[in-house]
Formats: sequence, C-alpha cells, structure tokens
Amino acid sequence: EAEKAIAEVVGEQPRDTTVLRGVSFAVPQGSRTALVGPSGAGKSTVLALIERFYDPTEGVIRMAGVDIRALDRTELRSRIGYVEQDAPVLAGTLRDNLLLGTPGASDEQCIEVLRRVNLSAVLDRTEAGLDAQVGEDGVMLSGGERQRLAIARALLAAPPILLLDESTSSLDGVNEQLMRDAIDAVAHNRTLIVIAHRLSTVIDSDQIVVLEHGQVIGTGTHTELVRDV
Ligand code: ADP
Ligand code: ADP
Repeated sequence: EAEKAIAEVVGEQPRDTTVLRGVSFAVPQGSRTALVGPSGAGKSTVLALIERFYDPTEGVIRMAGVDIRALDRTELRSRIGYVEQDAPVLAGTLRDNLLLGTPGASDEQCIEVLRRVNLSAVLDRTEAGLDAQVGEDGVMLSGGERQRLAIARALLAAPPILLLDESTSSLDGVNEQLMRDAIDAVAHNRTLIVIAHRLSTVIDSDQIVVLEHGQVIGTGTHTELVRDV
C-alpha cells in the first residue's frame, strides 16, 4: 500500500520542473555533512532523493558504490533513517512512539535513548513512564521535544545513515544545546546528513554543502568556506 502511495506521488511530479542541477558531492562513511542554503534551494529534495522518496530524472546516487536504485526501498530504508522537520507525535504512549520502527526494543533500551536525547524529564512529568499518553490527548511536547523524540526513535532503529531535517527548528539557547547533544548522540558511528539551520550544527560538520537555486555553490569545512568568502 505504502509503495503504491509513493508511486502515485512520484508519478504526479510535474515533469517540466527542474529542481536540482548538477548537484554532486561525496559523503564519507561516518562523517557529518550539513546542507545549507536559502528556502527553496533544493535541500529537502536532496534528502528525498537519497531515501528514494523520488528518483532523479538524471544522475546516480551511490551508496558504498552501489546505485541505490538497485536496492529495494525496504532494504534502503533499513539502512537510512529520516528525521523530518516538525516530526509528528502519534496519538499513543511514549513507548508506541519510540517503537515505530523497532517493535522489539525493550523498556530499558527506550529509557536509555530518551536519556541520550535529554527527554528523561518527559518521563518524570507523568507517573505512567513509558505508558504515558502523548500527543493530542496526553502530555503535550514542545517542538524541540517532538524532534528529539523522533531522534530517539532513530537511535533505537540505529540505521547506519541518518538524514535529519532541522531546517525550521528555531530553538532557544537551552533547547539549542539539547538538540546539539541529541545530534551528537546519533552521530556516533553513523553517517549523518543534516539540513542545517543552526550555526552549531554547521560548525560541527565535517563538510558543508551550500545549495542555491538547485546548484552547489560551495563545498568545504566551515573554516574553508569562511576563508573563501
Ligand atoms: P529547500 O528544502 O531548500 O527549502 P526544496 O527541496 O523543498 O527546498 O524545494 C526546492 C524547489 O523545488 C523549490 O522551488 C520548490 O518549490 C520545488 N519543489 C519542492 N517540492 C516539489 C514538488 N513535489 N514538485 C515540484 N516542485 C517541488
Ligand atoms: P513544503 O515544502 O511546503 O514543506 P512538503 O511538506 O510536502 O512541502 O514537503 C517538503 C519537502 O520534503 C518536499 O520538497 C519533499 O521533497 C520532502 N519530503 C517529503 N517527504 C519526504 C520523505 N519521506 N523523505 C525525504 N523528503 C521528503
């Protein structure tokens, strides 16, 4: 069913719109890449192509040398996690929300990932612990908490590659630090590609890819890019 829905969405793409042109960059295993650029530059589209939400009309995306179109989507998505911006909270318990991609995880593992993304306080806000209802009829989570919950979910699923869209997260100082810690927690032993909104994410990255009007206008470390301006 999901495959069919995706196929329909892909089929509906207007064919005369070129969103990305000549975009090329390499992401070393275990590194952290930040995608930056103005709204509409094509950053989300790059992530969508990497996890095959769309396929490119031209060009190839390779993972460990293999054209990702040679992998079926289930196989691809077991290796690539995607944390979207404004990640939704499902109506249900905290545990339900964490176990989406990883039904077998234990309570201990759930509590551990919540700790690593600084969400232990949510457990303390209620007597029910992991059985606490969250979402519309339960404990309300802030925007920052919702995104950290999505990161906790990705931590449990532990994909080797993680795509993270923080493009709309405007966080205050405290939440900024919490998010930074959460990203550090997922970055460990993992390849991370982040649509970066916050300077700290950009500075902490091994590589920054600057997009504008669907094209790469700069690639390098923060130091290199600042020097070249
Ligand atoms: P960013 O993430 O950098 O804000 P997007 O990747 O969302 O940019 O969008 C890049 C461009 O592609 C924009 O001009 C946007 O209007 C266009 N676009 C995004 N999604 C679609 C779509 N499904 N069909 C056609 N054009 C799209
Ligand atoms: P808007 O740009 O108005 O926020 P959407 O919410 O429809 O529009 O989607 C935003 C962008 O996120 C789209 O351009 C699309 O390319 C991308 N996108 C949607 N779903 C996925 C997905 N599952 N994986 C990666 N990118 C996605």
